[in-house]
Amino acid sequence: KEPPSPYFSSARSKRNGKPVFTDSMDYVLQKKLRVWCSASDEKWELGQIQSISGDDVEIHLVNGEVLTLPPERLLPANPDILDGVDDLIQMSYLNEPSVLYNLQYRYSRDLIYVRTIHQALDCSWSSQCLFICVLLSLQTKAGPVLIAINPLKEVPLYGKDFIRKYRQKLTNDPHVYAIADIAFNEMLRDGINQSIIISGESGAGKTETAKIAMQYLAALGGANGMESEVLQTNVILEALGNAKTSRNDNSSRFGKLTEMHFSETGKICGAKIQTFLLVQSRVVRRASGERSYHIFYQLCSGASPLHRKKLLLRDANYYNYLKQSACLRIDGVDDAKRFSSLLVLDIVQISGENQMELFSMLAVVLWLGNISFSVIDNESHVEVDSNEGLVNAAKLLGCSVPQLVIALSTRKIQAGKENIVQRLTLTQAIDARDALAKSIYAHLFDWIVEQINDSLGTGRQRTRRSISILDIYGFESFNKNGFEQFCINYANERLQQHFNRHLFKLEQEEYLDDGIDWASVEFVDNTDCLSLFEKRPLGLLSLLDEESTFPKATDLSFANKLKQHLSGNPGFKGEQDGAFKICHYAGEVSYDTTGFLEKNRDPLHSESIQLLSSCKSDLPKDFASVMIADSQNKSTLSHHLFVDSQKQSVVNKFKAQLFKLMQQLENTSPHFIRCIQPNNKQRPRQFEHDLVLHQLKCCGVFEVVRISRAGYPTRMTHQQFAERYGFLLSHSVASQNPLSISVAVLQQFSIPPEMYQVGYTKLFLRTGQVAALENAKNRMF
Ligand code: ADP
Ligand code: MG
Repeated sequence: KEPPSPYFSSARSKRNGKPVFTDSMDYVLQKKLRVWCSASDEKWELGQIQSISGDDVEIHLVNGEVLTLPPERLLPANPDILDGVDDLIQMSYLNEPSVLYNLQYRYSRDLIYVRTIHQALDCSWSSQCLFICVLLSLQTKAGPVLIAINPLKEVPLYGKDFIRKYRQKLTNDPHVYAIADIAFNEMLRDGINQSIIISGESGAGKTETAKIAMQYLAALGGANGMESEVLQTNVILEALGNAKTSRNDNSSRFGKLTEMHFSETGKICGAKIQTFLLVQSRVVRRASGERSYHIFYQLCSGASPLHRKKLLLRDANYYNYLKQSACLRIDGVDDAKRFSSLLVLDIVQISGENQMELFSMLAVVLWLGNISFSVIDNESHVEVDSNEGLVNAAKLLGCSVPQLVIALSTRKIQAGKENIVQRLTLTQAIDARDALAKSIYAHLFDWIVEQINDSLGTGRQRTRRSISILDIYGFESFNKNGFEQFCINYANERLQQHFNRHLFKLEQEEYLDDGIDWASVEFVDNTDCLSLFEKRPLGLLSLLDEESTFPKATDLSFANKLKQHLSGNPGFKGEQDGAFKICHYAGEVSYDTTGFLEKNRDPLHSESIQLLSSCKSDLPKDFASVMIADSQNKSTLSHHLFVDSQKQSVVNKFKAQLFKLMQQLENTSPHFIRCIQPNNKQRPRQFEHDLVLHQLKCCGVFEVVRISRAGYPTRMTHQQFAERYGFLLSHSVASQNPLSISVAVLQQFSIPPEMYQVGYTKLFLRTGQVAALENAKNRMF
């Protein structure tokens, strides 16, 4: 069997069917250096070549074993002096085992960060050349990609002292702080909005990383209390938008873009939060062993006796919506204590009255879940049981019991010119109840975000001094994938394209534009997959929307429609039983269409909207007017709002949000952080090679390293280069044009020709060359 293939072909290639080795492997064999051996499949071990006889290489493994293998099963290993380098592009060999070994080496020493573009200019700046460095860094392609491996335990890398070290450039170790610092400096210096884009699988550490970045920026920009307000919003949004899942006890079930605005002097003057696609289904249903949103459990165990009385509140295990997944607690988490930390609601200026409304809407949701139905005929039509759930939900909503009964058990349909009232069947009634609960929760979430934004809005103008931090759910692939995964993975395709564009396409276009010799680096271009989603009229999204408008359509008819129209597309595979597969940049995912149409239609009945708008409490009325405004925006038949209005489909709304997000990001200078999950057990100190390797490949880390190493990260115009270094020339140059001066400088400082390229307008320098120039210059001073 073939050994695991090296990601890079540099080590081996085949000629006439016989393996031939490129220079690097020949060299390794000849010098009997360290190698990676794969005696068994998928596993690499480090060893030292002892002897070579014919086609057999004898290797001594680190653990003392001796192996004899043919050279095809070997890959060059880096010399031990490069063990654990903090920048992957310093490595001599970039094969898979070498990169993994490097990450593991660091991880086991709590060095959880690695970067992939050497920031030659950011290290060892002496104050005397600060001026030149600042000028120079303008021309350096900033924005290394940071890889962050989740430590899953506390690591001593954060806090005031560390912040100071990064602020004062006393350290060059890769860190979220370093990324935030680069973004902050670029923003102030260039007046360009910045973004920090954090991606990774669920549980990989995105949300924590986002908070770490925010803490750094808050520490730099702290002035008037606004910074702590911004940080506190995390507590509130996590209570409402995070839940325990099988992969993460504190998993965010929404995407978030936090925009921090700064004054000319770098002080925080406002912030704005945008959220994306909160997963609503979790409120009513989820896998066993998982929880609904934290806030419910916090409220049930932490509310004061007075609150409990007003909200008619019981313990969490009293509520169907909470108890049905057989998980009420999280190890090591005290929900009551967390509830008291929600006092920060005061800090973001949510009034006592509004807080009470928030809590009573949460109680409404819980009581709705306890409403039950009884079948009254043999067609399964129902009436609502008159129980405590019904009475309490009505009381808290501020409506009458009969109003609630009508909304939950009947539906108006239009027959000719008349409206007929029809009783719902059991399934329909349960769906109507759950839809109401989900919708109230989703609107509550949006409302809280709005309140927070109002409070953070002071001083937020359209400046060119903002940093946006994106923490969005990463690519998901489970045994069973549904509508949520479909949306989430679609969003990730878009983000991946943004990443590709910035790291590969734009980079390569710049070389080409300037006439640079450039062997194009291949990367996983996901344009095809995106067009599979977005193409009109025959893309996944359009077909889903079309099918959602047919009342008679079913999930199966939707699946067949996809098969019928998309089977020719190489990225699509129709499967049995209403399933289909999509070939994503991060791998193939099989989706089960069950529930797609219902979830996309957003099945809140007009009866429910009507109910909310007639409630006495303010919040339900507010929610109803938002829903009506939404449906009016989209209404095609406006003659009878409550019966005919067509709500905008969920994917449509999501796509619009996503496009807006991408537009916003395109107007910023991006910085990328790729979070990696070291194991699937949420346990510290366990580093699983296959899992890590898969994630590195998915997020394009290997390509980034390769392009950075092969590329010319420093670039400046001839003019700029000549102005900056021309005065260092020891002899005058005949021609005073910038190009001649630049070339003379390069020659005088003996920069080897393979280390730079001269373009039509710019000089392109390889990593480390500017540092060499700087050193040479320092010696001259
Ligand atoms: P994601 O948002 O990617 O799903 P989280 O940011 O919620 O993942 O991280 C999951 C868990 O991992 C956190 O609850 C925390 O326990 C741990 N974690 C993540 N990053 C760090 C870190 N830098 N230091 C310590 N623990 C971390
Ligand atoms: Mg998260």
